[in-house]
Amino acid sequence: MTTTPQTAPGDQRAGFDEIDILWISEGMSCDGDTVSITASSQPSIEDVVTGLIPGLPKVNLHNKVLSPTLGGEEFLAPFRAAARGELAPFILVIEGSIPNENINGEGYWTSFGNDLATGEPLTLNWWIDRLAPRAWAVVAIGTCAAYGGIHAMAGNPTGSMGLADYLGWDFRSAGGLPIVNIPGCPVQPENFMETLAWVLYHAAGAAPPPPLDDLLRPQWLFGKTVHEGCDRAGYYEQSDFAYDYNSPKCQVKVGCWGPVVNCNVPKRGWMHGVGGCPNVGGICIGCTMPGFPDKFMPFMDAPPGGYLSATLGKPYGLFVRRMRGITNASLNKEPRWRHNRDELTTGYDP
Ligand code: SF4
Ligand code: SF4
Ligand code: SF4
Repeated sequence: MTTTPQTAPGDQRAGFDEIDILWISEGMSCDGDTVSITASSQPSIEDVVTGLIPGLPKVNLHNKVLSPTLGGEEFLAPFRAAARGELAPFILVIEGSIPNENINGEGYWTSFGNDLATGEPLTLNWWIDRLAPRAWAVVAIGTCAAYGGIHAMAGNPTGSMGLADYLGWDFRSAGGLPIVNIPGCPVQPENFMETLAWVLYHAAGAAPPPPLDDLLRPQWLFGKTVHEGCDRAGYYEQSDFAYDYNSPKCQVKVGCWGPVVNCNVPKRGWMHGVGGCPNVGGICIGCTMPGFPDKFMPFMDAPPGGYLSATLGKPYGLFVRRMRGITNASLNKEPRWRHNRDELTTGYDP
């Protein structure tokens, strides 16, 4: 833990050789993103916290699932110090969506530790209000923290929302950065660790800030659609569709939203390059998207747009599939001049 005198928001410059990561998963969360990032290998969380990545600052990670402490006040100490303005610089990572404590009735929706004076629970919102303005960078991991996700579905009683909805989309951290959203339910492991490494290089003064799109996502990770990277896209183009989940063909008719979803998982895979939803038979349900899950339900129904484009493309697809079948059959035959008869039939003319 790096402890320094109180640092006013906005006056932290990059060039740190040590930084803390204060990771709170007490949002409306399943801790799935913490679990997911343990599968990352490029880089791994172990490599980052043990200093094996050249050029990164020394990282002190405070995540309850990955903590070597016994928990309790020992674990909470750096969070309390940061809330008092006695710890800097730090990166705040929020996992899970942010409930609306203005509508919690007589209770509270979610908490992280207790007030030492009163014994009353300290809400996630209490912590965000104190830590976010002091944080050198603020990172939302997973779709819940980024955009609200599952806990923000229509009909929920908590009024849950994403971090940018809570802090404001024009929020700037003490390091001058917007919130960095890394969506996914859960986040793809390397998507998070690669972005975190970029933020850490920036903290070290060795890299510019990571480029983000309008939805505060890393541009290089979310600029393409699932469909553009899918193993099955060749089937789609030929109008060759799966009608159950045992087929290797395009799954748009059994509920895949890949053509309209920003996600690199089919290209990158899930663990060590293996997997990637539609590549391995899972329909894309748009889990990285701000409209998830409401706009993708009911899952497993064919998306209306997918039905339309598949229907419009059918005449073309059937025609080229037929033509390609004929050409493919021809290409699977050796040229007829390859024989051992006593004549030369290659067409060679001396
Ligand atoms: Fe869990 Fe998904 Fe929310 Fe992450 S985004 S906390 S994996 S429900
Ligand atoms: Fe596109 Fe989904 Fe079909 Fe893949 S399975 S080609 S992502 S519609
Ligand atoms: Fe989520 Fe679709 Fe990406 Fe799979 S392919 S991780 S379901 S957005």
